Amino acid sequence: MLSLRPLPALRDNYIWMLADTPAGTAIVVDPGEAGPVLDALAADRLTLSAILLTHHHSDHIGGTPELAGRFPSAPIYAPHDARIRDATQRVGDGDVVEIDTPPARFEVLEVHGHTRSHIAYYGEGLLFCGDTLFSLGCGRLFEGTPAEMLASLDRIAALPGTTRICCAHEYTLANAAFALTVEPDNPALKARTDAARALRARNAATLPAVLDEERAANPFLRVDALAEDRIPWQDDVGALHRRVDRFAALRLAKDRFRA
Ligand code: ZN
Ligand code: FE
Repeated sequence: MLSLRPLPALRDNYIWMLADTPAGTAIVVDPGEAGPVLDALAADRLTLSAILLTHHHSDHIGGTPELAGRFPSAPIYAPHDARIRDATQRVGDGDVVEIDTPPARFEVLEVHGHTRSHIAYYGEGLLFCGDTLFSLGCGRLFEGTPAEMLASLDRIAALPGTTRICCAHEYTLANAAFALTVEPDNPALKARTDAARALRARNAATLPAVLDEERAANPFLRVDALAEDRIPWQDDVGALHRRVDRFAALRLAKDRFRA
């Protein structure tokens, strides 16, 4: 029986830990720092058996050298990107990551947009998507185009609706503030926002999100569902005839949004 939990790290990051407690093993995804991982491992007397990395940003990989020093036999999976120096296994689209213990199998999806080499890991009903999809939002376009990010989100949206989305930041309420300006009357969005508020009020994570709920509530997964006049006009995008333009305008509006 695997157990999943988000370890709060840095300012608003989550390091996801998937553990087989009886077997005494765990894997982590995107350890931006080592401390929370070492504490969680020690508390349950677990050994780290693998590290999965989604992209090169330091808030996702910063704890890797220290963890590798403590657990030198744990493989470190990462995309083909020289900016991630500590990788022991490079993986790309369609590759499969097989872990003996905890017993888990993940397919690698290239989901470019936030960065040019960002990947996600899909398996066990879970998606570890780093900074690609957030609950009620999506990652910023630091190195990719709107078309790339939209293609990445389309791939994620096509996964089974029960998939639990393990995002790397607690951004849900900040994202809700923007999403509600786009679709103030969307009942799924209102319900998700209320649920997230209740969770944050007791300092609990709003994640993992459920893909079905995101498809109903997250404006960045709803470029086809949104009426054109619901997309905040951006001069530098112009006409909103193509869905990629609607997505680009939505992403720019979010960049410029101040709650
Ligand atoms: Zn990032
Ligand atoms: Fe990040």
